[in-house]
Amino acid sequence: MISTMVDTAGLAHGSQTSLREANRAHILDAIKKFGVITQVELADATGLSAGTVSVIVKELLEAGIVNTTPTSRSGRRAINVTLARRLGIVAGVHIGRRDLRVCLASPAGEILIKQHLPLAKDHRSDTVLDRIALFISDMLNHIGASREEILGTGVALDAPIDRTTSMVCSPGLMRGWDQIAIGPALERRLDCDVVVENGTNVGALAECRMGAGFGADPVIYLSVSHGIGAGIVYEGKLFRGFSGIAGEIGHVSYDDQGPICYCGNRGCLEAVTGTSSMLESLKLTHGNLSLADLTERATGGDIACRRVIEDATRHIGLALAGLCNLIDPQRVVVGGDIARLGDLFLDPLRAATSRFTLPGSTPTIEIVPGELGVECELVGAVCLALESIRLPGNLEGVVFHDAS
Ligand SMILES: [Zn+2]
Repeated sequence: MISTMVDTAGLAHGSQTSLREANRAHILDAIKKFGVITQVELADATGLSAGTVSVIVKELLEAGIVNTTPTSRSGRRAINVTLARRLGIVAGVHIGRRDLRVCLASPAGEILIKQHLPLAKDHRSDTVLDRIALFISDMLNHIGASREEILGTGVALDAPIDRTTSMVCSPGLMRGWDQIAIGPALERRLDCDVVVENGTNVGALAECRMGAGFGADPVIYLSVSHGIGAGIVYEGKLFRGFSGIAGEIGHVSYDDQGPICYCGNRGCLEAVTGTSSMLESLKLTHGNLSLADLTERATGGDIACRRVIEDATRHIGLALAGLCNLIDPQRVVVGGDIARLGDLFLDPLRAATSRFTLPGSTPTIEIVPGELGVECELVGAVCLALESIRLPGNLEGVVFHDAS
């Protein structure tokens, strides 16, 4: 809760006006952050009184900046507030190691249309960026919208990102994307603002705002897929570290004699136990399996597939326990392709993590499956876009009633 917000009662007129403007800005920031939020939650998020929130929401509604719809929370009537659809749309992009997902969403964060394309290993940035621009053009045509309506684009890429340069900050982690200023390269193709962030980080944000991490803090979001990564949300905000590599659990080295990892280090978690090594260890008995084949066979009861996953999970749990000892999370949310296995993966992960964490005031760390599924990072990219949008200039001249 923001405790510095001040209600306007008892202040001089000029101070009241500037405070009201500041309060409007805080309310709009909270609506952009959460996409859909009730008036009661807005009061909680901004520290403003319910009365002040109600007055400002009414002004924004009259100005056509927000929409309100009746809803219910815990059996009580409530009012949902979202940015108005007429403001425009946002685009979300998730560039994974083997998948591309692109969507257009309303200012309320509702996905209107989406596209998915499997990608080749070590895909190249220029062809993927061209494809994203093509997908967005096609989808705009499909929903009858124009490029000018895009307020901003959020991009989630499965590698640590330097937000100042918009580049992958650890070379080799996403081959084909090194030394590419991703934001500007896509801005040239789309002609709108683009924000880029690590996919696991935006996945953490998405699960915390509208998924299994909601209401908990700190939260670790662990993604186990073609890569292994973690995003940390601490005091409601993403913890990125100094250079943006915080949470790179897949490259924690715990065997200095282990195999060389593609990051250049030796004995990283991903090199020892990532999906590539899982699939490699099954080659002799099962031939060339994909990650989807592995999860499908494990679910179907294939003993060798289950064993490979269980062994890998012990290593992942050991690394996760180390991160838990450092961060002391209230909850760990698990996403990514392997998480689709449910308790087949989560139970050994819980056991291994519990075995190696320091006992805290709670008996065990809560480890739960993500709720947003394979589109978690895409939803996070939409959240990223919404947070960064600037309202169009024609709204800046809106005259608000100076209600009190
Ligand atoms: Zn590594």
